[in-house]
Amino acid sequence: GTGGPRAASGAAAAQLRQRLESELEDIRGAGTWKSERVIASRQGPHLRLAGGGGGACEAGGGGEGSRSLPQVPFPCFYLSVPAGIINFCANNYLGLSSHPEVIRAAVEALEKFGAGLSSVRFICGTQSIHKDLEEKIARFHQREDAILYASCFDANAGIFEALLTPEDAVLSDELNHASIIDGIRLCKANKYRYKHMDMHDLETKLQEAQKHRLRLVATDGAFSMDGDIAPLREICQLAQKYDALVFIDECHATGFLGPNGRGTDELLGVMDKVTIINSTLGKALGGAAGGYTTGPKPLIDLLRQRSRPYLFSNSLPPAVVGCASKALDLLMESNAIAQSMAAKTQRFRSKMTAAGFTISGKDHPICPVMLGDARLASVMAEDMLKRGIYVIGFSYPVVPKGKARIRVQISAVHSDEDIDRCVEAFTEVGRKHGALP
Ligand code: PLP
Repeated sequence: GTGGPRAASGAAAAQLRQRLESELEDIRGAGTWKSERVIASRQGPHLRLAGGGGGACEAGGGGEGSRSLPQVPFPCFYLSVPAGIINFCANNYLGLSSHPEVIRAAVEALEKFGAGLSSVRFICGTQSIHKDLEEKIARFHQREDAILYASCFDANAGIFEALLTPEDAVLSDELNHASIIDGIRLCKANKYRYKHMDMHDLETKLQEAQKHRLRLVATDGAFSMDGDIAPLREICQLAQKYDALVFIDECHATGFLGPNGRGTDELLGVMDKVTIINSTLGKALGGAAGGYTTGPKPLIDLLRQRSRPYLFSNSLPPAVVGCASKALDLLMESNAIAQSMAAKTQRFRSKMTAAGFTISGKDHPICPVMLGDARLASVMAEDMLKRGIYVIGFSYPVVPKGKARIRVQISAVHSDEDIDRCVEAFTEVGRKHGALP
């Protein structure tokens, strides 16, 4: 038999356990403990939590298991779902994570191409669907080529080291995602950090960086903690003036920002000025997993030779490739999906502002309700759940100390009624805890 877990014996193991327990206690004491709620249904606007939270969901909207998938067009397949827990904290911006066609594409890919490759790409892990998806991603972004990774975290970990040498410089927004920060840490280029979206500071740093061979400005297209959008037009102008390249991480933009959902570069009219895009397949594009880099062909060719997370990690599983590929088909067939979210975002932002809350960012479906205090964010989120609204409090170290918030994320498949229920719950809970007068 396998028995239960075995604790390692010895003084070093005991000392480690004690140290870890004390560190965990510190996190609890600081009120920044992150606990995970367990979902017992599919991802969607309405959920059922394990242990009975929320009402059951009907077919298509998050129902568990093997019910047959409804044959109704996007986004109507969610509308028959009775209200249970309403989910406002997924990156499921377009509601594609449980879209029937996306699920069907995954099942077909699984059946035809198997569970996985048991290999990295360059040994025996490249299938026709991987090549097709890379071609589709490049076409979607109007770039020359694309390369898949297991995640965008990996894409960010792989690019800077492969591209930049000690002769080069990278200029990074101070609030860039952790994976960009880590990717930059791994490279040997000269590092400059500019103040968040501060073009004056970026210009100063670009001037300092003139002595290097190559300059790369790296920024999130949309910042996930604040819901603000990088001033890409200005960044590209400065890049042109100081002969720099521009890299954007589009995880919170791909699929829904811009007239055709191409992202921040399309929204701001600079598709021909941004050289490199990294993004994820794990948010709007079906939500399974995976990431990619898209850009000039020689760069993609180099990444296939040199990028460590690509070279030394398994190929994306066929089912995951199937999901993303179908999500991109849906987006390229019509821009209706990409456009479907803006009015809902506007409804939430204006109603919450009228209620007296401060919502960070502008026009983005990430709507951070700014509260300041970590405990307040945490207890309010718990109380929201009691009212059937699933939101999460964010506090240090995910956001700076004193800037705790509840991050609400709007999805194309939320109904107006869902949004109004969320605003009502916030108003009640905010009054109860003194966040509103
Ligand atoms: N970049 C940004 C801006 C993100 O928000 C995330 C995910 O949270 C990532 C990168 C990592 O993406 P993935 O989940 O595909 O690793």
